[in-house]
Amino acid sequence: MSASRGTWQNWGRSVATRPVRWLHPTSTEQVVAAVREAVVDGLPVKAYGAAHSFTPIAATDGVLLRLDRMDRVLDHDVATGRVRVQAGISLHELNPRLAALGLALPNLGDVDPQSVAGAVSTGTHGTGSRLHGIAAAVVGVQLVTGDGSVVEVDEHHPWFGAVRVSLGALGILTEVTLQCVPAFLLHAREEPMPLPEVLERLAELVEDNDHFEFYWFPHTEKALVKRNNRVAEGTMPRPLSRLRHAIDDELLSNGLFELVNRVGGARPSWVPRMNAISGSALSAREYVAPSHDVFVSPRRVRFRESEFAMPREALPDVIAGLQRWFDAGHETVSFPIEVRFTAPDDVWMSTGHERASCYVAVHQYHRLDPTRYFAAAQEIFTAHEGRPHWGKMHTLDAGYLRERYARFDDFVAVRDEADPHRVFSNAYLDRVLGP
Ligand SMILES: Cc1cc2nc3c(=O)[nH]c(=O)nc-3n(C[C@H](O)[C@H](O)[C@H](O)COP(=O)(O)OP(=O)(O)OC[C@H]3O[C@@H](n4cnc5c(N)ncnc54)[C@H](O)[C@@H]3O)c2cc1C
Repeated sequence: MSASRGTWQNWGRSVATRPVRWLHPTSTEQVVAAVREAVVDGLPVKAYGAAHSFTPIAATDGVLLRLDRMDRVLDHDVATGRVRVQAGISLHELNPRLAALGLALPNLGDVDPQSVAGAVSTGTHGTGSRLHGIAAAVVGVQLVTGDGSVVEVDEHHPWFGAVRVSLGALGILTEVTLQCVPAFLLHAREEPMPLPEVLERLAELVEDNDHFEFYWFPHTEKALVKRNNRVAEGTMPRPLSRLRHAIDDELLSNGLFELVNRVGGARPSWVPRMNAISGSALSAREYVAPSHDVFVSPRRVRFRESEFAMPREALPDVIAGLQRWFDAGHETVSFPIEVRFTAPDDVWMSTGHERASCYVAVHQYHRLDPTRYFAAAQEIFTAHEGRPHWGKMHTLDAGYLRERYARFDDFVAVRDEADPHRVFSNAYLDRVLGP
């Protein structure tokens, strides 16, 4: 097992630590050995994937395990759609491997560098009013618990409700079985739409599309709506031209957007005008492509993010609350607000647990302090029973979260069994779950 040294930091540059040991296991046996050794030395252990969480959920000053060398597809059954992978494989590597088998994950988020283990552990999700987050596709895991035991958890195991979104609190996931679906193409349709029209047509837009989301440009009434729908069998792909991809996804969404953020940081009063221009620059486009190519876009402008799930019917009030805050002139914000939707699921610590959700995400450029903006947004979200994304910034603790999750105490009971001595804890988990 190889080792590296130095400071660990996350993608959003909101967390940095110096672990005592930093290991790169390649097998379950090596993970077991790493956990047992850490226990003997009295050190905590954390695993991480792509460090794409904005919260310090993966941070440790003890033993840090990077599972990027546990990246194999172990087994597959095309007939049932079940695929067993090592937990460190990234979605970026997995998606084309699934496509080659004629399979796909039913839904994905915006980007693909995350590991399977990291994505499911924090409840990573995309959008779709009849669909769930990625963790809902998990039908079994192999878990190394606090005493180094290897436990297989399938749908019949009493821990099944807890292990799919586990916040990294129950142990190290070493293998995951995913229930996939036959590979599919999506017809992507993106176009500007005034925010009042989006809100007026919300029910129809959410219900009549497989995957609906929109971005609202703060300080304006401009929005960009995205509708992605499965195509009829036999439809041929119609990908974007390279030039269109280069202009929209690289230049406008990344290169020029970085410039907008730098200028906006120096000249906040220009931001509303720049947002109005950005909201108009991204013009309508349509294309047909494999699902993972449609879901995932490049994100090269570094930012920090906070995102909450709320009951779907709360959305108009939440947007109105944010609008009032912007109108009061507290701060100017260049990043669009992203709004997504999912169906209720049965995963105990999933933000979508037993609730039809809308997700509202606020972002801030990484060189600007997000504290005031995110605190104001959190106040609006929590007034609507908001559940924070476990990997995105918030300041809530176990007192609040226990009220939001019906199975919170059941989850803590599984934690007490799997990790009674809190080998896998850190300051963030102590805060959100209790010590
Ligand atoms: C640019 C960007 C875009 C994003 N887009 C979305 C999006 O569209 N939708 C969404 O919901 N989220 C999104 N996120 C958030 C992101 O998906 C989550 O934070 C996810 O957890 C990151 O995966 P990771 O592999 O980097 O995990 P890490 O951040 O490395 O770890 C996350 C958690 O998983 C645990 N963990 C990792 N590996 C293991 C393991 N093997 N066993 C046990 N625990 C483990 C860690 O200890 C930690 O608790 C985005 C983040 C960024 C930076």
